[in-house]
Amino acid sequence: MNKIVTILDSMDYGPSPEEDGHVRAWLKRHGGRFGQFVGGRFTKPGEQTFAVRNPADGELLAEVAEADEKDVDAAVKSAMSAFRSWSALPGTERSRHLYAIARQVQKHARFLAVLETLDNGKPIRETRDIDVPLVARHFYHHAGWAELRDDAFPGHGPAGVCGQIIPWNFPLLMLAWKVAPALAAGCTVVLKSAEHTPLTALAFAELCAEAGLPAGVFNLVNGGGTTGALVAGHPGLAKLAFTGSTEVGRLLRRQTAGTGKKLTLELGGKSPFIVFDTADIDAAIEGVVDAIWFNQGEVCCAGSRALVQEGIADRFHAKLRARMETLRVGSPLDKSTDIGAVVAPVQIASIRAKVEAGMAEGAALWQPSWAGEDFARATEKGCFFPPSLFTGVSPASALAQEEIFGPVLVSMTFRTPGEAIALANNSRYGLAASIWSQNLDVAFDAARKLKAGVVWINSTNLFDAAVGFGGAKESGFGREGGREGMLEYLVPAWERKARALPAGKGLPAPVPVEGDAGPGAGGGGLDRTVKLYVGGRQVRPDSGYSYPVLDPKGRLITEAGYGNRKDIRNAVEAARKAEGWSDMTGHARAQVLWFLAENLELRSAEFAARIDRMTGVGSKQAAREVAASVGRLVHYAAWADKYDGRVRAPQGRMLALALPEPFEVIGISCPDETPLLGFVSLVAPAIAMGNRVVVTPSQHHPLAACDLYQVLDTSDVPDGVVNIVTGDRDQLAAVMAKHDDVAACWYVGSAEGSATVERDSAGNLKATWVNHGKARDWFDPAQGQGEEFLFRATRIKSIWTPFGV
Ligand code: NAD
Repeated sequence: MNKIVTILDSMDYGPSPEEDGHVRAWLKRHGGRFGQFVGGRFTKPGEQTFAVRNPADGELLAEVAEADEKDVDAAVKSAMSAFRSWSALPGTERSRHLYAIARQVQKHARFLAVLETLDNGKPIRETRDIDVPLVARHFYHHAGWAELRDDAFPGHGPAGVCGQIIPWNFPLLMLAWKVAPALAAGCTVVLKSAEHTPLTALAFAELCAEAGLPAGVFNLVNGGGTTGALVAGHPGLAKLAFTGSTEVGRLLRRQTAGTGKKLTLELGGKSPFIVFDTADIDAAIEGVVDAIWFNQGEVCCAGSRALVQEGIADRFHAKLRARMETLRVGSPLDKSTDIGAVVAPVQIASIRAKVEAGMAEGAALWQPSWAGEDFARATEKGCFFPPSLFTGVSPASALAQEEIFGPVLVSMTFRTPGEAIALANNSRYGLAASIWSQNLDVAFDAARKLKAGVVWINSTNLFDAAVGFGGAKESGFGREGGREGMLEYLVPAWERKARALPAGKGLPAPVPVEGDAGPGAGGGGLDRTVKLYVGGRQVRPDSGYSYPVLDPKGRLITEAGYGNRKDIRNAVEAARKAEGWSDMTGHARAQVLWFLAENLELRSAEFAARIDRMTGVGSKQAAREVAASVGRLVHYAAWADKYDGRVRAPQGRMLALALPEPFEVIGISCPDETPLLGFVSLVAPAIAMGNRVVVTPSQHHPLAACDLYQVLDTSDVPDGVVNIVTGDRDQLAAVMAKHDDVAACWYVGSAEGSATVERDSAGNLKATWVNHGKARDWFDPAQGQGEEFLFRATRIKSIWTPFGV
């Protein structure tokens, strides 16, 4: 048989390598050695360098200098000095710079794609068609935000100098996700590339200089964890943005606690890929390919946990195995390669170890028939791993719970939609999820119930600059992309001038409880204890202790319960049970808030007298505080059904919804000053958005909140939605920060208390909002209410679905 006929018969692919001469010429031009990029130019590489290798064959591509303390300091100083002029540029000017970067990326698209593929090992098809176009898209989109910043975010300014630390799996794309919004907001940047893959960041730095970006606006340092820690710890930063593993994210949460740095963490995931029996199975199979074999499975949001409805599981797995047989693993530069090289030998060793552990756990591993010894021999010079499927996986096993970060899918089955959701949410992570069903009711119901930052319906691994990306639970907090991503790089303008709160006094020593009093007690100088409010009931403090509530002259008004760890635990449990509140419509919650406002207003005089007695502000000021509190309830009643999300405009025929969702349980520590207004200003937006709260009211003037028990009872606030534990603010805040069933903590108090809350929240990576000991004027509507509160009370879930065929 002649050759052509043979080829037609076997339908084998011929090699189709992408040309890499221009990249090699670029590496040569730099002598194969790179320094840092600081103040608009490269520094001379010193002695301390690390090797950058092509994971497909181990070839040395370059030596890159590892940034030390001096380098990091120089980079931050350069960014600090550039910040003055960059942040003062009109939006239109900054917009033009971002546009120029986008154009540079497009002009050098092929070069960047080849460089990324050589450096990272991902197939050229992906760098060419996905990574680099998305990078350009990000800069175009954010050029728009630079232009629109002042209109779209009135009263906000840039956060300042931003430290940004990125991983190796999407080196240039992660850079774009971080740099574009920062520059658009008016911030300047010190970026640390990942140690395995610094090359496209170096090329990007060069492109910035060519595009005329002012020196110092973008600075690049290279190195590993030590360099990263130096960046994170630099006092010149106003914000740190990190993408990487949950373990390092947790370290950074602790390292930055109390420094005043804004923080966003995009961390790991073990995302479910749910296939209902109403799915288009063939489409779902292609979905799996994109979910777990895209980028060798080295994707934080990879659909690495398939959940397949029992009735179709056999058919689904048979089709999946057939499809896996046709996947091509090989040279990343070959245009017909589906799965390229894993980034480095350590990563392949980690994947192998996890796969072996999975087999030892008793799960069944399946790999394509071609993935035997011949494959191993043919790929021995590089870091290649065949696509792999585990079945017979138990939901609690390491295989089902731990991120493998490689081309390995674990598959489980479920019977009912409810079971699918329970299995899907049974994870410490909450980054993304993919749902397959032609029945939109089933799909959207699941989308709503999944605890994940991004949900793709009948699609997977879609990204766009207009659509926020980020996680819940141990997948981190904060969003990149979209309007919500911009807010992460902005701060309310008034904050810059905020003064420090005067140092607070400690609480008087607690005393054993002798009697009980309801709210309203103490008017006649009674010394009985006001109880806590948990699950809609007034309860005694577990400690059996109370503490004196004094007037400004130090005279006893009454005693308040001295809440402890157990009281917080009970309150959190009550809040968790009140989940019906989060499911209510905004309209229904608005009704409750209106009713609260009405009932508080009816008792204005009584509340004002109480505030005056506790704080001594005078009757006029006290009456003003009550009126402002009523106004604030009305304000959030108004917002309850209007902070309702948006429809995003991604590229492609996709509908992308940005839905603000409650955190569920928020722990709130209230300020001492303006005890009623401070309390209402924090609690009202939280519950308006569907959260249930555990609140420590003003520690010195708790009665303003305790007097609300009856108002809450008579205003149809369901039991457990608002739980109030009086006592030592900082002690109770630390308990809330450590509690795994609290998803977010707000704290207004001292700088030390703020630091504790941030540090102690690292366990389950809560979203935190603290005041770092700075004062806020609760009467001023610009400071005491508005979108900032609603933004903090919710996190955006991005839901993607195909829109048109
Ligand atoms: P990693 O956490 O080890 O490293 C990420 C970055 O942090 C690197 O630049 C590294 O040098 C730096 N780093 C390491 N230790 C540090 C320290 N102590 N202080 C400061 N910086 C330090 O993660 P990785 O192995 O490079 O990346 C894989 C992980 O990233 C996976 O868990 C993956 O899920 C996650 N990831 C998440 C997203 C997302 O958007 N959520 C995206 C990509 C990757």
